[in-house]
Amino acid sequence: MKVTLLGTGGSAGLPQIGGVDGRGDWGRVDPAEPRNRRSRPSIVIHANDGRNILVDTGPDLRYQLTNCGIGKIDAVIYTHAHADHVAGLDDVRILNRILGTPMPAYATADVWAELRRRFDYVFKPWNGGFFGRPALETHDIAPGLPFELFGQTILPIDQDHGFTRSLGLRIGDFAYCTDVVRLDETALAALKGVKSWVVDCFTPANDHPTHAGLETVQGWVDQLRPQRTILTHMGPAMDYKMLLATLPPGIEPGYDGMELAP
Ligand SMILES: [Zn+2]
Repeated sequence: MKVTLLGTGGSAGLPQIGGVDGRGDWGRVDPAEPRNRRSRPSIVIHANDGRNILVDTGPDLRYQLTNCGIGKIDAVIYTHAHADHVAGLDDVRILNRILGTPMPAYATADVWAELRRRFDYVFKPWNGGFFGRPALETHDIAPGLPFELFGQTILPIDQDHGFTRSLGLRIGDFAYCTDVVRLDETALAALKGVKSWVVDCFTPANDHPTHAGLETVQGWVDQLRPQRTILTHMGPAMDYKMLLATLPPGIEPGYDGMELAP
């Protein structure tokens, strides 16, 4: 199994729209460092049988897949229905054309209800032929209930994301926990023994209602002791080189296009 980090930024990406010259607001990060240019959070899991599992379909999806050289997706898993994780759903129609079938897609019942409301046209029956709109083959998943996909066993983990819930995903020694502010005992137990962990860390301080900060992440790392912890969903105060120079051993900032072989 291999993992590609498609996007490691927050919901607005980096740079955000704006800035004195209109070419982007970089916040407190160095615009000259290419690894500070971050698209919305998403990963691809490359299964052992060669098939690709996309986690979330954010608004940067087309740019992310073409940048990372990933030309085919075989299934999608949703962590939650926030716009930065679902707003690229329309690009799935291109992935449908490559695959030739509706896209197997996995989400909780709550997320499906939300997506059906916001993207009603996607859920009209596909009658074969050209994919003028996305077509999904929907599967329900639930926290604590592992499911099989392309030879990988995937455990969805219930996460506190402030005003809503999200799913973390554990696959063998690897776990992906984006969009989380608190992990309860059940979640921490599900993450026990993880060796390679990609985790939400939006700010250096613990000052956000829906996303973890560095202090929280360090507390989790002290408990879980992964060999490698990679930060994602990083906001405008998370400068790549500053983090590399100051993070304790074993914790590092991710970047768009980063590849892991957990
Ligand atoms: Zn979110």
